[in-house]
Amino acid sequence: MTAQLIDGKMIAQQVRDEVAATVAKRTAAGKQKPTLATVLVGDRPDSQAYVKSKGKACEELGMGSVSHHLPAETSQEELEKLIKSLNDDKTINGILVQLPLPSHLNEERVLQLISIEKDVDGFSPINIGRLAQKGREPLFVPCTPYGCIYLLEKSGVKIEGANAVVLGRSNIVGMPAALLLIGKNATVTVCHSRTQDLPGTVRRADILIAAIGKTEMVRGDWIKPGAAIIDVGINSVPDATKKSGHRLVGDVNFNEAKEVAGFITPVPGGVGPMTIAMLMKNTLRAAEIQDK
Ligand code: NDP
Repeated sequence: MTAQLIDGKMIAQQVRDEVAATVAKRTAAGKQKPTLATVLVGDRPDSQAYVKSKGKACEELGMGSVSHHLPAETSQEELEKLIKSLNDDKTINGILVQLPLPSHLNEERVLQLISIEKDVDGFSPINIGRLAQKGREPLFVPCTPYGCIYLLEKSGVKIEGANAVVLGRSNIVGMPAALLLIGKNATVTVCHSRTQDLPGTVRRADILIAAIGKTEMVRGDWIKPGAAIIDVGINSVPDATKKSGHRLVGDVNFNEAKEVAGFITPVPGGVGPMTIAMLMKNTLRAAEIQDK
């Protein structure tokens, strides 16, 4: 292996330790515990697991969490009423609506309603709009892309002036990751399902962020020697040697890419643990903003 492994698990733990230490100082000084409200509509098992792990992380870091689990048939009006009450609730610092919402609900209207000072997921149009504008700063950066950039910076990868390629243009990963890289003075190419010559484009990347959800699609011979690879993809493949019968792999063929890249994140243990760590960082930041 030539690439340096970017250990997301270890870096996420450092972020969590820093957050926990600041939270402990705040509570010792008599300040309110930073508190996250999660809102889950419906019974998707993956969403239930995500919300549960976010609540658990709050508890581990000395923060508060309040979970609202609403039935799948909840109306737009009922959901909006809950969001408004959380906006007004002084004991709540951050509001996270677990996506995707059931299809009868208008996600855009819900995200727009979250107070910008409590938008710890960073998905409100105001926060995203600020991310897209030169010279403006969002209050919160979406957690997964924030984690990707944090991993690059912690590993000493130079972003300024680099050619960066982002695979995927979703609202939650690809697009905000591209905007963050532009903000850090990279030259960015964003690829999607209609991009021509994906291998040729990826070969020019000093930094690659892969977020397409396609099992090991990026091959070793697509990688520029020495490039930094951040693999966001989480794909399940059958594996008879595992008790569960499956294992998780990324969007990049790790075994091939690690022989060519300069830096690489593993899956699991790369970007995954960063998402919740950055959510905790954002929730602490929300409490600090609301102190003022
Ligand atoms: P989406 O399905 O919302 O977006 C996928 C993007 O990839 C789209 O922009 C799509 O293009 C593009 N795409 C799909 N197929 C191809 C292809 N063959 N070639 C080029 N581009 C393609 O996914 P998400 O952004 O939500 O997630 C991406 C991956 O990241 C998933 O594996 C997901 O599980 C993982 N993930 C991991 C997280 C973590 O914490 N580690 C958090 C969030 C997601 P188009 O726009 O044209 O349709």
